[in-house]
Amino acid sequence: MSDCVNSIGVDVGGTKIAAGVVTDGGQVLARERVATGSKAGYESVIRQIAELARNVAQQAGLPLGSVRAVGLGMAGQIEGGTGIVHHAVNLFAERDIPLGPMLSEALGLPVTVDNDVRASTLGEYLFGLPGRPASFLNVFAGTGVGSGFVDRGRLLRGAANSACEIGHHSIDWQGLACGCGSRGCLELYAGGLGVARQAREAMASDPGTLLWLLCERDPGRVDGRMVATAAGRGDVTAAGVIERAGQALGAGLANAANLLNPEVLMLGGGLMKLGESFRKAALETFQSRALATVRRSVRLEASRLSDDAGIVGAASLWRVGPDGTIA
Ligand SMILES: [Zn+2]
Repeated sequence: MSDCVNSIGVDVGGTKIAAGVVTDGGQVLARERVATGSKAGYESVIRQIAELARNVAQQAGLPLGSVRAVGLGMAGQIEGGTGIVHHAVNLFAERDIPLGPMLSEALGLPVTVDNDVRASTLGEYLFGLPGRPASFLNVFAGTGVGSGFVDRGRLLRGAANSACEIGHHSIDWQGLACGCGSRGCLELYAGGLGVARQAREAMASDPGTLLWLLCERDPGRVDGRMVATAAGRGDVTAAGVIERAGQALGAGLANAANLLNPEVLMLGGGLMKLGESFRKAALETFQSRALATVRRSVRLEASRLSDDAGIVGAASLWRVGPDGTIA
C-alpha cells in the first residue's frame, strides 16, 4: 500500500504561499497558508516555505524526516532539474536564485521546483481526472493565463523548461504591448489583469455602469469580482467585458488545441468565478474556431481539484523524471 508515504507540496504565489502534506494517493492530510513576504527578499520567502513545511508535517503528526520529498510550484522561469529560479517576476527582483538547493539544505529533504501550472496539471492528471488520458491540456486562467500538457505519460517541458506558455501566445499580432516583449498576448485579454483593464476602458465610455458605484469611483480598484457582481445585477457593460474576455480565451484555446490535439482539455483558475457566461463564451468561441477533427476528438472538463491542484501537483513532482516521464 503506497498510501502510507507522504510528500509536501507548496504552491508559491505572488500573494500567498500554500503548503500541504499529501499522500501518494493524492489525499491532503494537513494544509496551511500564509501571505507571501517577498518584499523582504527571497531568503525570507525560503524561510517562510521551510517553516510552513515543518508546520504541516507537525499537523499531520509526521516527523519531517519521514517525508519523501518536497515539491514547489511557482510562476516563473525555472531550470529543469536544478531548482534554480531564473526569473519569477511577481515574487523576486533577483534572478538565478538557487531556491531548490537552499530549501533542501534547510529541510534536509530532496526538493523539486517547477512551474506552478505544470505542477497543477500533474495534480489534475494523476488525481483529478478518471484514468490517464493519452493527451491532456490543462489551461489555468487566473491573474495571467498558463497551461500544462501531458502526452502519453510525459509532461511537456520543452528545450529550456518553458513549454506551454499559452498566456504569451499572441491572439492579435498587432495588439497591445505585453511585458514579455511581444504583442497581443492571450493573457492581456483573457487574464484577470486584462479583464480589469478592459473593464476600465468600458467604464470610460459608460458613466452609468454599476462598476463606477462598486469601485467607489476609483477605476484603479476594479477587479474581476466587481465585474462579475455588476454583470450578475444585469449591468450590460460588465456583461460585455466578460463576454469579450471569454471569447479571447476561446480563441486561445482553439489555437492551443489545434497545435496539440488534446484528448482532454481542462479549464480552471480563479477567472472561472466570472461565471457561466465567461465559460460559455470561451467554449462557444473554441467550438467555432478549432479544427473539426480537433473539436470532435476533445473532451472538455472543468478543474476537478480546484484550489488543491497546486499543492497536490507540487507534492507529486518527485514522480516526474528528467525527460518528463511520470511514474
Ligand atoms: Zn506576453
